[in-house]
Amino acid sequence: MRIGGLQKCSLIDYPDNISCVIFTQGCNFRCPYCHNRELVLPEHFQDTIPQEEVLDLLLRRRQYLDGVVITGGEPTEQEDLLSFLVKVKSMGYLLKLDTNGSRPHIIRAVIQQKLVDYIAMDVKTSFEKYQKAIGINFPVELIQESIELIKDSSITHEFRTTVVQPFCKYADVCKISSILKGEKTYRLQPFRRSSKIIYPNIEEIDQFSNEEIELWKEKL
Ligand code: SF4
Repeated sequence: MRIGGLQKCSLIDYPDNISCVIFTQGCNFRCPYCHNRELVLPEHFQDTIPQEEVLDLLLRRRQYLDGVVITGGEPTEQEDLLSFLVKVKSMGYLLKLDTNGSRPHIIRAVIQQKLVDYIAMDVKTSFEKYQKAIGINFPVELIQESIELIKDSSITHEFRTTVVQPFCKYADVCKISSILKGEKTYRLQPFRRSSKIIYPNIEEIDQFSNEEIELWKEKL
């Protein structure tokens, strides 16, 4: 595992649980509005944290933490993700996986082997706009496949969309909602400005306000 960052204690990343957050290094997408360039762009990578150091910390903190969140970057890009999940699970932790849904064969294995307790998948925008929102050419059928796998699984899950102009508007959120009809949790989150985003010119584009997004939620 290439571990690019670690947050030793979080009250918000694993719903209703105190968690440690592990940030994996590397992502196959290039979302222009991404805040994590040090985890996405190789020229911004920092030294990784040895896996043994992280496992040792988890062992020592077992009595203070409920769960571990594996986020990125994109965790499913890590070749040894499954064996890492097995090691953390054997310590008795709840495990949450955050994913961009690009590698359904890994998600399938995680679900079949019951390696996590919670999956959160980003759905970036409606399928026809996906390539622009993720900054690369990519077969969107894989995103659809991941959505269906997660929807059909018995593992607690959520889907979420960061509402960022010009990639995602109300009409796109409506399309995503119709795909997710019947799902328990679909989160809409506003774009947060940051000095660290991949393409800073996004900063110049007007974004939807929190109030507007709250209104969308009510309508949906
Ligand atoms: S927003 Fe997520 S999926 Fe997109 S580039 Fe950043 S880490 Fe990768």
